[in-house]
Amino acid sequence: MSHRILIVEDEPEMRVLLRDNFEFEGYEVISVESGEQAVATVQSERPELVVLDLMLPGMSGYEVCRKLRLKGIDVPIIIITARNTELDRIAGFELGADDYVGKPFSVRELVARVRARLRRHQSVASEANEFAFGDIVVDFTKQLVWRGPHRLEFSAREFELIRYFIEHRGEVLTRERLLKDVWGFSEAMQTRTVDNFVAKLRRKIEVDDEHPQYILTIHGTGYRFLPPI
Ligand code: CA
Repeated sequence: MSHRILIVEDEPEMRVLLRDNFEFEGYEVISVESGEQAVATVQSERPELVVLDLMLPGMSGYEVCRKLRLKGIDVPIIIITARNTELDRIAGFELGADDYVGKPFSVRELVARVRARLRRHQSVASEANEFAFGDIVVDFTKQLVWRGPHRLEFSAREFELIRYFIEHRGEVLTRERLLKDVWGFSEAMQTRTVDNFVAKLRRKIEVDDEHPQYILTIHGTGYRFLPPI
């Protein structure tokens, strides 16, 4: 499964260079050119890591960092900038950046740092081995789901489905893909099965299953799990 990263860079040549290199390395790349777009895209697309240029027109990289952290978003952020003085370095870390690469930098070095950061972030996440959103906590080790203090009844298949949604959060998942990956069916048969299970999940985890906020319907296609962050 490829990692989805967001590149925030206002200079078109640099943006394309970074995009091409990360795509060549197998990453799924979203790129934007302003801080405002960066904050919106992190919330809508849930990248696993952000490569952030500091000097942007309008909202600066510093402000992007601060805004994301204030919203409680802990996505790893690697800052790239020409302002590579020690003072800026400290300011970047204080605002919640995870790493700092000064321009000019080698793209290979940046790719290596991104890879290392993602690995570290993933191992922290897998140690915790649970995923929380809203008042729901999914415990992968014990295969239990809690809503506040109450344990929810989940069948094995329902648990596999919520696990799949969590692992692929933010992605548009077709009914066919869900059937194939969660049920192991290779043919596009009984896609209604998926709808029935999604309806069951919604009754358990949504605040109001008539107006789902977490498992969204993508009309004519399937579903998208978008937990609040
Ligand atoms: Ca710039």
